[in-house]
Amino acid sequence: MTELTLIPGLGTALPAPRRNRHFIDGGLVDSASGEVTDRLSPAHGVLVSHSAAGGAAEAEAAIRAARRAFDDGRWSRLSGKARATVLLKVADLIETLESGKPITQSRGEVAGAADLWRYAAALARTVEGDSHNGLGPEILAVVLKEPIGVVSIITPWNFPFWILSQKLPFALAAGCTCVVKPSEMTPSTTAMLADLLVEAGLPAGVVNIVLGLGQPVGAALTAHDDVDMISFTGSTAVGKLISRSASDTLKKVALELGGKNPQVIFPDADLDSAADAVTFGVHFNVGQCCNSGSRIIVHEDIAEDFVARVVALSRRVVFGDPLDPATQVGAIVTPEHNARIHAHVQAARAAGARVLLGGAVLQIAGLGPQFYQPTVIAGVTPDMAIARAEVFGPVLVVLTFRTLDEAIALTNDSDYGLSAGVWSEDVHTCLTFARAAQAGTVWTNTWMDGFPEVTFGGVKQSGQGREIGRYGLEEFLEVKSLVMRLGRTRAPWVKTP
Ligand code: NDP
Repeated sequence: MTELTLIPGLGTALPAPRRNRHFIDGGLVDSASGEVTDRLSPAHGVLVSHSAAGGAAEAEAAIRAARRAFDDGRWSRLSGKARATVLLKVADLIETLESGKPITQSRGEVAGAADLWRYAAALARTVEGDSHNGLGPEILAVVLKEPIGVVSIITPWNFPFWILSQKLPFALAAGCTCVVKPSEMTPSTTAMLADLLVEAGLPAGVVNIVLGLGQPVGAALTAHDDVDMISFTGSTAVGKLISRSASDTLKKVALELGGKNPQVIFPDADLDSAADAVTFGVHFNVGQCCNSGSRIIVHEDIAEDFVARVVALSRRVVFGDPLDPATQVGAIVTPEHNARIHAHVQAARAAGARVLLGGAVLQIAGLGPQFYQPTVIAGVTPDMAIARAEVFGPVLVVLTFRTLDEAIALTNDSDYGLSAGVWSEDVHTCLTFARAAQAGTVWTNTWMDGFPEVTFGGVKQSGQGREIGRYGLEEFLEVKSLVMRLGRTRAPWVKTP
């Protein structure tokens, strides 16, 4: 497709494949089975890592190490100041680390992740409960916040280091110990973190990393009696499996799942900014993003012109070799996922929708076949699968509305509720929309701006619980009430003569 903006393969020699091992009880270990998985770079088709493939034995050893480390208090009983000192040191060390995916975004992801560790370090010194001094002269009560215990952290492949950093430093700030399982497709940055944790002085066993597949490793981490909480990011389907598995032991579960996130555009909006943000929202990370702005709901009066702008901008987004700093959009994670994206688009065509741009696998000179064209689909009705399913690719669907009420109804006509956006210069329109939208985050006149201070999470089938911000710390804290009687003032229950 010649009218797209493409950067061919640079032919850069990639470094020798990295060797990743589990990190259990402070040491790096291979799998008892000796099994290893290989990972090819999605853009170049070249081997980039060999990773130990864990099983039940490694999951068990890691959970035991985390349990011991929690129960003996080597971390959970440290002061907030001592925990903060270690987390800040990790942040310093992260800033020296670089990973190898789309190069400008990887650098941004790593820098942003360091900031999450710094923010969590500050929160470590704010683990505070409540005091009840108004219960009468004989009673003083306090509500204590305590670390919840051993936390299993299971992460996906789309922002491996960022998503880990939305969870792990907050769990550590609370005083928890952890077992982490990264996606089997992107384990390297999580594995690299082990070295930084050791260097920063984190006691052995406080963080354990088990590499391997969801089955058996992830499943073991969700079912084990010695795990107190699971924090998961990934698909809604696996989130439901985890919730079921956790119910046997009634563990706490925090889930950050998918979305079909709408941006609503009113005629009075700054349409240049809106069109740019819509283009960014859908193509960022090739749409492989829980926050992907994959649906737009545009006022009928401006729909044709606005969509034409988005199509024109989408043609200018730079797709290509992730190692070129000018590249904005890289490869799709696996061939299977690329085929899934294409199947969604084909089904939309078959249902009568109009593909205005893209709609096919993208071939880029000198690179592997795992790219997908920026795609814009109009003529979509709310009942079509393409309007409802999370495609997780660079595929934008266009719906239209006439009134604010209709826009709100279309926004909320979804199983998901992660994020939503509204574009209008009228504050009444923006705030009415923001209050009515069923979503964990609402953006007005912007998209995907995020800050460590501002909490994040979804409603409906986009998840439960919250990450980052103060609520991100609360998630890993248990509440204990302590009621104290002053003096011997309690009247006896048993009457004695
Ligand atoms: P999954 O939900 O399958 O995987 C996420 C993590 O869970 C991975 O570490 C995976 O391990 C692990 N896992 C898989 N099965 C289990 C299980 N039974 N018990 C415990 N852990 C398990 O996401 P995918 O990576 O396969 O992506 C599929 C789809 O999920 C995407 O197309 C997208 O729609 C959605 N997704 C949403 C994300 C979000 O940010 N909300 C992020 C990523 C995906 P492993 O893969 O190593 O086997």
